Amino acid sequence: MPKLSDLGLTNEQVGQALDYDTMPDQMGGFTEPPQPGVYRFRFPARMDDIWEVFEHANGNPPGKRIRAKFDDTHPLTIIQSPLGDKNGEPFTTNITNAERRRGKKDDAAAPFISDMDYINRDVWGLKSKPAGGNVGYAQEAQKHASTEMTATVTWNWYCNPKRNIYVDNGQGGYMEVQQPGCDTSYYQKDVDKVLSNPEDPKSPQIYPFRITCKCGAVVRAFANLEQFKP
Ligand SMILES: [Zn+2]
Repeated sequence: MPKLSDLGLTNEQVGQALDYDTMPDQMGGFTEPPQPGVYRFRFPARMDDIWEVFEHANGNPPGKRIRAKFDDTHPLTIIQSPLGDKNGEPFTTNITNAERRRGKKDDAAAPFISDMDYINRDVWGLKSKPAGGNVGYAQEAQKHASTEMTATVTWNWYCNPKRNIYVDNGQGGYMEVQQPGCDTSYYQKDVDKVLSNPEDPKSPQIYPFRITCKCGAVVRAFANLEQFKP
């Protein structure tokens, strides 16, 4: 084999410029969602091609509903974050007009309300549901492209019975086990905060992205939005 110096190589940059600090994670990696708290978001500039239709079997009545997919190509943008450290970062989420019962669990008369209904009224000031069914919901949302809203990020952790669990492999990683999840949900009130830097007792307390379920599964946090405000 020739020596490196015999290969005729130059010091010219290879490929595009990359900042390793901000380079996206490898496929299959999981980006930790922003910590729970109150954030300000900007809607994407284009909202005409973010829609998906699905069947809402638990609707009142059941039927087709729409989902705004704020995905990697059309994310919400974080404008303000509790510690100021997430400003300018994308936030991916889905927001739907699929209604669910709100209010107390034992209140059979509690109305069915969707997240989009709350945004329509509490962020955009509508007095009633948009005319025109699902199309009306999407058209109303599109009017507010590039505008901002405030919302609260909450985390929950779900041990999904439809998938095999992952457990700690004892080497700082995780391995799949042929055992389904145990269908247990954890909310913020169920989870103790941890030091953001375990080596530093003075570092801020944060919610752990991964927790260990009672069945032994290592479960990742999922972020939701609620408390939509102008
Ligand atoms: Zn479990």
